[in-house]
Amino acid sequence: MHSPLQPAVPVVPPRVLPSPGVSDNPAAGVRQLWIVVLASLWIATVCNVALWRALANLPGLSSGQAATISVALALVIALATAALLSLLAWRWTLKPVVTLFLVSAAFGAYFMMAYGVVIDPNMMVNTLQTDLRETRDLLNWSMAGTVMVLAVLPSFFLWRQQVRRTGLARQALFNGLSLLAAGALLVVVVMLFFQSMASVMRNHTQVRYLINPLNSFYALGSVAARPFQRDESIVLPLGEDATLGASYTAQTKPPLLLLVLGETGRSGNFAINGYARPTTPQLARENIASQRNAWSCGTSTAASVPCMFSNFGRAGFESRPANYEGMLDVLQHAGLAVLWLDNQAGCKGVCDRVPNVSTLQLKVPGLCDGGECMDEVMLHGIDERIAALPAERRAKGVVVVMHQMGSHGPAYYKRSPPAFKKFLPECTSNSLQSCERDALVNAYDNSIVYTDHLLASAIGWLKAQEARSAPAMLYLADHGESLGENNLYLHGMPYGVAPDVQKRVPWITWLSPAFEQRSRVTMACLQQQLDAPISHDNYFHSVLGLMNVKTSVYTPALDIYARCAQ
Ligand SMILES: [Zn+2]
Repeated sequence: MHSPLQPAVPVVPPRVLPSPGVSDNPAAGVRQLWIVVLASLWIATVCNVALWRALANLPGLSSGQAATISVALALVIALATAALLSLLAWRWTLKPVVTLFLVSAAFGAYFMMAYGVVIDPNMMVNTLQTDLRETRDLLNWSMAGTVMVLAVLPSFFLWRQQVRRTGLARQALFNGLSLLAAGALLVVVVMLFFQSMASVMRNHTQVRYLINPLNSFYALGSVAARPFQRDESIVLPLGEDATLGASYTAQTKPPLLLLVLGETGRSGNFAINGYARPTTPQLARENIASQRNAWSCGTSTAASVPCMFSNFGRAGFESRPANYEGMLDVLQHAGLAVLWLDNQAGCKGVCDRVPNVSTLQLKVPGLCDGGECMDEVMLHGIDERIAALPAERRAKGVVVVMHQMGSHGPAYYKRSPPAFKKFLPECTSNSLQSCERDALVNAYDNSIVYTDHLLASAIGWLKAQEARSAPAMLYLADHGESLGENNLYLHGMPYGVAPDVQKRVPWITWLSPAFEQRSRVTMACLQQQLDAPISHDNYFHSVLGLMNVKTSVYTPALDIYARCAQ
């Protein structure tokens, strides 16, 4: 008799099936070399469509020349990728490393194809500083499809392969040899095609930032190396000698300056700057001066905002030896009350030492929805926020910065509430190239209509303060935007090759009569100089000048308002 606990039939231990990728037989499976070669070829050809498209469209190249350079570059990319993979191809690293290369290449290819961007260190900084809200705006089906085809399918194929096992010493020898072979072939190819490749690379520097995924690795490496070039944890003081000028003695109305820091504003899409569509009806009714020839410091928020608030200017900012405080610190050193309101992804360090508020957590009915607020939220409760600043500073004067969401893309349609959707139909996809161009421009222009409303509302609020203070407003955008011209979208192209629409920004001034009186800058004079060439380099000095702050770091020649001070 069997006890009830004993099985009647003897149990056969289940046969252990080999899982894919692991083998008991060291000689079985694919050689690592083949995986390296196939992955390098896949990356060099299919994943570099953006590069091939750019080369085919380069002006001044015959189709024969373009084809020769494309073949040469494909070989260079394949060999460089193979050399890099040879270094990293060890038993436990090969598959993860190849997968990482494929995924980086797929995302790179998508962004370069969809938005016409290139991937350089500045673009990498933008990407690393992107918050959750912005990421959500970028996700779409064509991105998913691209990543699926370029990365997920080949990775799936890769992970199903059984890789032949090799001892550590042999592996090191193989890797060393394939590295040497790839390197030697690379030298041969470069020497053979040097002439034609060098001239293209010299004349079209942006092409090198299309080489995928090496562009992403290079950009990431150079961003990671920055702390070694400059200690980012140290911020040196600036303008500690700042004092308030003569206009403050015996003042009855302290100055109240509102600095609206716009986002992604294309100067040419403002009707007050000559645009054919009525995008700025409310500002048109105000006594403003809108500069038509103003240029940005960078082509992205991360590049422009820190530069705008510094005294280095565009030429000096990138190569600055150390980080220094900026405009807001100097205003604070002078004794003024400063407040930063942020309806965006943060102030990029420029408001770190002054009172600042993010609207991110606000839930104001009618203005906030889904973790995002319309820019008008910054006017909501602003009097209370200012009243909370130190009284002795407020008595001298107040500077408030409003950092807009503005026309932040690609989801332009989210930047205007229904009442301001003047131009229809709107592109409601974040896959911009799939929209009709008119619908894309409509969505963008509606965001300017809303900015027009925000600025006019801000002027309205400032006018209501005239009994107690001398108000003024300055509106500048951080950079412009490409809306599909030459197949380019969004912004962030390297400055030297970026189209003007990414660099030309609105710069609007409104001064109340009391502010005109105390600064002795007149609107009438400003309105005579709308075409004068100015840039973000002028911002720091112009604000200090308007606020009559005396300091050794103020340069009168860069103060655009000093030209109009009577
Ligand atoms: Zn920006």
